[in-house]
Amino acid sequence: MSGLVRLSDLAASAGLLWSRPNRRGQAKADHCPFCGDRKGNLELNLHKDVFHCWVCDSKGGVISFYAKLHGLSDMEAKQTLYPRHRTRPLHPAEHLTNAQLQSIGFLPMRIQKPTSWSMSAWLAYRKRTLDCVWQAWCEHEQDERETTERLQRLFEQASQRLPEWRYEHDQRVQRAQAPTENGENLPRTQTGASER
Ligand SMILES: [Zn+2]
Repeated sequence: MSGLVRLSDLAASAGLLWSRPNRRGQAKADHCPFCGDRKGNLELNLHKDVFHCWVCDSKGGVISFYAKLHGLSDMEAKQTLYPRHRTRPLHPAEHLTNAQLQSIGFLPMRIQKPTSWSMSAWLAYRKRTLDCVWQAWCEHEQDERETTERLQRLFEQASQRLPEWRYEHDQRVQRAQAPTENGENLPRTQTGASER
């Protein structure tokens, strides 16, 4: 699977040499680090990441290999090889919810490393993609903020003008209703507000 420690890496770091693997991935190690056999009795399967020594009967997978090599329990070896908590901090784009991703036109799907890619090419591609998603999200947020601010300003302007209209309207209505000294009585004040 992905991100797993390979048996070949552990065997190499333990100083083992091995024969060219056959098509099933089986290879003979030059020695067994557990019993010291030097007659090729330790078999490695580099496809399945398992090992077996025909002399000391040591066998298992990557975790057992590491555990035996370092005198650890399988549990300790597992915790060393695969710490429970990932130390890699998440990219900010990885915190976005599916709904947020969809709102900026991205399909919320998990992208996976194509098997033919090298890890470094994959990580670079992954970072570029996440950077791109994050930038789109920041621009989207900025747009939203600006739209909200614009609407808020319009509302504020409208509500500042409203009392004024009403006041003037009321004044005109009062003036219209009250007989003035010179007898002026303005019937058109009813539509005064909308004329502005
Ligand atoms: Zn052995």
